[in-house]
Amino acid sequence: MKDLKKVTRSQGKDRTIIKIGNVEVGTDSIIIAGPCAVESEHQIVTIAKQVKNAGANLLRGNIFKPRTSPYSFSGVQTEGFKYLKEAKLQTGLPIVTEVIDLRDIEKVIEYSDVIQVGARNMQNYPLLRELGKIDKPILLKRGMMATIYEWLCCAEYICLEGNENVILCERGIRTFETYTRNTLDISSISALKEITHLPVISDPSHGSGKRELILPLCLSSIMAGCDGVMIEVHENPDASMSDASQTISLEEFRNITDKIRKTWEYRKTL
Ligand code: PEP
Ligand code: MN
Repeated sequence: MKDLKKVTRSQGKDRTIIKIGNVEVGTDSIIIAGPCAVESEHQIVTIAKQVKNAGANLLRGNIFKPRTSPYSFSGVQTEGFKYLKEAKLQTGLPIVTEVIDLRDIEKVIEYSDVIQVGARNMQNYPLLRELGKIDKPILLKRGMMATIYEWLCCAEYICLEGNENVILCERGIRTFETYTRNTLDISSISALKEITHLPVISDPSHGSGKRELILPLCLSSIMAGCDGVMIEVHENPDASMSDASQTISLEEFRNITDKIRKTWEYRKTL
């Protein structure tokens, strides 16, 4: 990792703290929640209100969806910007949403507080360079086939252009295991806390593909050292237009936030 000048802790750098709304990623414990995809204004506003009441700090929801099959729902597209705006207006929750195309960067900057780079775009170097020139935090997901070094190289691409507000998100990697959608690499969370000063969050939703595993994987990620978790939540999980099997209900979300917060409190006592 020695060639990575910006992202490693070796230069004696302090941990990066990123202020978003009224929270600080890197010092506070962050819960990001919301649907995989924004489906309508009613859907995102309803979920936003409920996850806020349950203690979420940021709202997630993608309007551009990179899908494996070109026949799958690919998001509400630019129509969704106004839905996200309304959700923020009504709840005050900062917005995390994904950019997949260089041509949408300006608009995504305007309507979001954190810009997500998804697993499939982790190594989209022109996109990373552009995001390095802007003044907004970037949530960089791990590519499904990427080593920790390759992932950190991508964070370095962003930081090198001047934007050093990068949050790393472990979202599982492809292994020989097929029971789970991906294998959430808990060890990468602990390793990254050693190697880099950047904040690290965990996404057990994509990391497992199974809603019954969200709670235990959130708790294990916290004990491994993560600064936050990102969870897919929907009013009617089975009717989600994408990622239904890994999406939890608002009721389950309320249940697990309590345990998540308690685990963070417990970690502080160790
Ligand atoms: C998502 O966050 O909805 C998403 C598409 O995740 P990933 O890029 O990790 O597959
Ligand atoms: Mn998803």
